[in-house]
Amino acid sequence: MAQERTVAFRQALLVTQDEGRRVLRGDLLLRGPRVEAVGPRLREGADEEVDARGFLLAPGLINAHTHVANALLRGLADDLDFPRFLERMFAVDARRDEKDIELGALLGGAEMLLSGTTSFLDLYYGQDAVARACDRLGIRGFLGWAVLDPDKTTQKGVPVENARGFLGRWKAHRWVSPLVAPQGVYVCGEETWRKARELALREGTLLHYHLSETRGEVVEHEKRTGLRPALWLREKGLLGPRQVAAHGVWLTTEEIRALGESKVAIAHCPGSNTKLASGGGGVCPVPELRAAGSPVALGTDSSTTNNGLSLLREMHLATLLQKHARHDPTVLPAQETLDLATREGARALGRENELGQLAPGFRADLVLYDLSHPSLATTRLDQAVSSLVYGAPEGAVHTVFVDGEAVVRDRALVRLPWAKVQGEIEAASRSLMLQGGP
Ligand SMILES: [Zn+2]
Repeated sequence: MAQERTVAFRQALLVTQDEGRRVLRGDLLLRGPRVEAVGPRLREGADEEVDARGFLLAPGLINAHTHVANALLRGLADDLDFPRFLERMFAVDARRDEKDIELGALLGGAEMLLSGTTSFLDLYYGQDAVARACDRLGIRGFLGWAVLDPDKTTQKGVPVENARGFLGRWKAHRWVSPLVAPQGVYVCGEETWRKARELALREGTLLHYHLSETRGEVVEHEKRTGLRPALWLREKGLLGPRQVAAHGVWLTTEEIRALGESKVAIAHCPGSNTKLASGGGGVCPVPELRAAGSPVALGTDSSTTNNGLSLLREMHLATLLQKHARHDPTVLPAQETLDLATREGARALGRENELGQLAPGFRADLVLYDLSHPSLATTRLDQAVSSLVYGAPEGAVHTVFVDGEAVVRDRALVRLPWAKVQGEIEAASRSLMLQGGP
């Protein structure tokens, strides 16, 4: 077997996110796809030596909820109420083909890598095209095939069967982890939900879904079934570990307890919730969910509801929103917020022993932020985490490694030169937007 390639980053400002949350000036050594060693000064030489003195080095960020292919539709449905937003989206969505989905995923994936995100959890149909985009870019895609009741979908065939086929085609791929994604209780009845869950359990994949995003959807479900969504799922025996529920804005104390006891993870999406005013008076109860036992991660949601896919922005907004809503500036401090975007994201994905930390044995998914950027220029060791959470701009993301491979160098994509696809992406977006109408 060929010797695995080694890379050494020397004297970086290291934000390890390890068990002790160590922040130190030191070296980090990669061997193949993994981190081999971290320390103040490592003696081993490496195939590639990187002078990292001017950089903050941290784990790659994890986006725990998005619909990446919608990047092509950014700006299509701004400043609308939810029903009009959906109407506009569905009109365009019905006309999209596989090529549009792949180009949308390339655009969104590029945006994520260039803003320091190395893994994302996606909910969509046509995921083969998204998987191809992940492979072309070198980003980890946890891709959930959307499952709906057969009479409520635009997919050809039965969605849960389509999901089964997708799992079979992309198992054990380097960049792609396929999974099952019942869209939400408003389009999935008990039978569909049960089939989706059984498929995920049998294949050992995650289950990803929307839960209690808007007040209207919760009221509607309660009217129909007599129970709020999370309690209905519990009553039907459908809650359990290895599930990631996006949003969780409108939750009662009893629902928080039910989710925590079942170890369901929550993907909090503050940008999307505030832009669509899904929360209104409600805000995802992040501290209560964490106290109840649920991992809480951060998601951007779609480019049509955010409109960016940057986890840096999302961290900033998440901590500000919790503080503001609770009249308490001590809530969700910077370290805890960075945990949501790294370690907790990894826990939500069931990969806490591989992702979200820079520690020996972990996958080498990491970001070098340029400390000469004016927003970061005064960063000291003792406030490196706060600098990242409150102030790091996307423009400071200089180099990104995923699985030990450089996928962004000097702020440019490595595997897929942007100039190669930019024209095609812009043309596809223009054409879809024209069909959607102003
Ligand atoms: Zn969503």
